[in-house]
Amino acid sequence: MADKLILVLDEGTTSTRAMLFTRKGTPMGSAQEELTQHYPQDGWVEHDAGEIWDKTLRAARAMVEKAGGADKIAAIGITNQRETVVAWDRETGEPLARAIVWQDRRTAGFCSELKNAGHEALVRMKTGLLLDPYFSGTKMRWMLDHDGEVADAAGRGALAFGTVESWLVWKLTGGGAHISDASNASRTLLMALDGAEWDANLCALLGVPQDALPRIVDNAGELAQTAPELFGGTIPICGMAGDQQAATIGQGCLSPGETKATYGTGAFILANFGADLPKPENRLLGTVLHQLDGQRHYAIEGAVFVAGSLIQYLRDTLGLIDDAQETEALARSIDHSGGVVIVPALSGLGAPHWLPDARASISGLSFASGKAHIVRAALEAMAHQTADLAQAFADDDVEWTRLKIDGGMTANNWMAQDIADFLQIEVIRPQFVETTALGAAMLAAVGCRIYADLDAAAQAMIGEVESFQPAMSDYDRNRRDVHWARAIEKL
Ligand code: ADP
Repeated sequence: MADKLILVLDEGTTSTRAMLFTRKGTPMGSAQEELTQHYPQDGWVEHDAGEIWDKTLRAARAMVEKAGGADKIAAIGITNQRETVVAWDRETGEPLARAIVWQDRRTAGFCSELKNAGHEALVRMKTGLLLDPYFSGTKMRWMLDHDGEVADAAGRGALAFGTVESWLVWKLTGGGAHISDASNASRTLLMALDGAEWDANLCALLGVPQDALPRIVDNAGELAQTAPELFGGTIPICGMAGDQQAATIGQGCLSPGETKATYGTGAFILANFGADLPKPENRLLGTVLHQLDGQRHYAIEGAVFVAGSLIQYLRDTLGLIDDAQETEALARSIDHSGGVVIVPALSGLGAPHWLPDARASISGLSFASGKAHIVRAALEAMAHQTADLAQAFADDDVEWTRLKIDGGMTANNWMAQDIADFLQIEVIRPQFVETTALGAAMLAAVGCRIYADLDAAAQAMIGEVESFQPAMSDYDRNRRDVHWARAIEKL
C-alpha cells in the first residue's frame, strides 16, 4: 500500500485530465484531452457526455498503465466542472441529450418566472444559492420539457440525472452506482444546505423527479469500485468534489476564515465557513465545502466576473500587449498608474456592487498616460475587485485570515504582491499550482485511509508555498481606494 499511487480524474470545462500522485502529493504524470464545446444558440453551451467519458477513460487508462496496473493505484479521486447536467438512460447507460454546461443561460426565463412568483427568498434560505441559470436544477427541468428522449426515459422510470462526477462514477462502475457528492449536490438548487437528502419541496418547485437523482454521499470514503473490465482490476473511488471546493481543500483552507482565490478567466473566491450554516447576503453564495462521515463543512463563495479575460482583452481587442506575461514588466516600469483606473465591468459588475448592466471604464487618463499605466491599472483592478469582495465576505461574518491564490494569472508576481499590499493581508501562492487536482487527491487519500483526516493529508501532501507580505504605505492605499471608489460611482 505504501508505494501505491492516487489517480485523479480532473474533468474541467475545456479539457479532461488524469493525474497520478504519490501519497506525499508529488505529481507522477498526467494525460490530458481537450473537450469539444458546442454552442448551438446564443447563450447555450453544451458538451457531449459520451466524449467526456471516452476521453476520461482514455486518459485514466494511460495513467493506470504508467502506474504499472490497477493494483498499483490505491484510490481514485474525482473533481469536476460544477453544475453541468448530464441525462442518461439507466437501461442502456447512454446519454439521452447533450450535457448542458454551467455557463449556459437558456433557463433565464424560467428563473425569472420563479423569481416573479416570489420563490427566491425560500430558495436562497434553503440552498444558499440564487435563482440563476448557472445552477443545475433548472437545466434538468429544461431537458424534461424540451427533449423527447429525456421525457420518455422519465416516463419509463429509466431517467438518470447527474452532474459530471455522477456521470463518471456511473460509467466507471459499469452502472453500479448512481451517486453525487455533497459539494456537487449543493450546486443544484435541489438540496438544502443542511439536508442530507434532496429537498422534496425544491424538487417539486423545479419540477425535477426525485427518482431520477443520484444518492448524495460524502466527499471521501469507499464511495464505489470501478468495474473490473475497465482497468484490469478494480480500483476504489474514494474522493469526489466540485472543482472549486477541491481547490479550496488543495490550498489547505481547512479552518474558518481560510480563503482561496483562483484567478483564471474570472476569479472564484471561497472562504471556509466551518460547520455553521452560512446565511450569505451581498449576493455571495453558501455552499458545501465537504461532507465527511455525514458532517458538513461550508464555504462562502463569491466570483469576480472579469480577471484574466481583461488581460486577454488588452491583448486581443486593444492590441496593447502581445503576451499576458508582458504585463508584469510593464507594471514594474512605472511607480504608479498616474490616476488611471480600469473598472473591468465588461460583463456587468458582481458582488458587492451588483450592477449587472454596468459597463467597463478606463478613467483618469491624461497625455502622460501610456500603455504601462493602462496595463498597470488592469492588474490593480484585480486587487480592487478582490478587496471589494473581502468587504462583502466580512459583512457576511467571514474575515479572511490570509489569502491563498492560484490560477493562470498568479504567475504574475507583481499582481500577487499588489493584492497583499492593497488588502493588507498575507498572500500565499503554492509552488505546485494544480490545487484542484491536489484537493481531489487529498480527499481520495483520506477516503482510502492513507490519512486519518484532511488536516493530516494537508500536512503531508501540500508542498512549498511562497508568501507575499503587505508593504504598501497607507497614503498609497488610500489614494488608490479613493480613485477606485470614484470610478465605481461614475459607472
Ligand atoms: P482558465 O482556467 O479560466 O482557463 P487560467 O487559470 O489558465 O484560466 O488563466 C489564464 C488567464 O490568466 C488568461 O486570461 C491570461 O490572460 C491570464 N494570464 C496568464 N499569465 C498571466 C500573467 N503573467 N499576468 C497576467 N495575467 C496572466
